[in-house]
Amino acid sequence: MVKYVYDAWGVCTTVVIDESATDIANLNPFRYRSYYLDTGLNLYAYCLNNPVMHLDETGCFAKGLLFQFAVSALCYVGFFIAAIWDKDVKSDMDKLGKLFGDSKNEFLSSIPNIINTKEDIVLNSKKVSFYKGIPVVRTDFEGTFSFGAIVLSRGYTDDLNIFHVESDPKVVKHEYGHNIQLMTIGLRNYIFGIAIPSVLASVVLYEIYMNSSMLKKTYYKIYFSFPWERSADLFGGATHPDYYKNSKEISLIYYALLLLI
Ligand SMILES: [Zn+2]
Repeated sequence: MVKYVYDAWGVCTTVVIDESATDIANLNPFRYRSYYLDTGLNLYAYCLNNPVMHLDETGCFAKGLLFQFAVSALCYVGFFIAAIWDKDVKSDMDKLGKLFGDSKNEFLSSIPNIINTKEDIVLNSKKVSFYKGIPVVRTDFEGTFSFGAIVLSRGYTDDLNIFHVESDPKVVKHEYGHNIQLMTIGLRNYIFGIAIPSVLASVVLYEIYMNSSMLKKTYYKIYFSFPWERSADLFGGATHPDYYKNSKEISLIYYALLLLI
């Protein structure tokens, strides 16, 4: 048994512990009228200290954040090492500027600005970059995608011999939106709810697109109205010129479902 004594203001003044039930007062930190004894561990970190508005029923949020943190840290170390012999990587990392610009500490002042928020720095990189904590790797693949790191095409020539330059800031913003999805819904739901549908949609649309002059005009409208793309635009702050009506609401419902299952 544990006995608590409270003063007139409800503050717990004395805890009388019966030795036979050792430490039960600490095992159960809740007191009279839900007053809470702070044991040092923040039990509500997973829901940003707001257990009423935020839920993490599946544990995906924690896993998604952990995955993102691991990929960012690995890439940071990789870029750092590559910069020793690769001049392009070195100059790309220099373009980011410094995270602690005015620090007199030699170590701190050497850290690049990995939370860079300028899309043009990313688009002007040759091989690597960082955008809001997310690593960016440049490639000559056809198209751009995100999986913990943004794999950003430098531009490519398609089957119709049209050269695509991906130099639009909204490409970077959109991909960052995909990383927010990954961090919040977790790996499994990102793979099945975002990555696979988006690959399928682009393959199918591209097949039809090549044979339909009608679709050429509406390709981007269709593609970016899909719920997994529209919420990436919303979270990343990208806007495409045209969307289908209600695609915003549908994308938020779709995202909410991925958060909950
Ligand atoms: Zn996308």
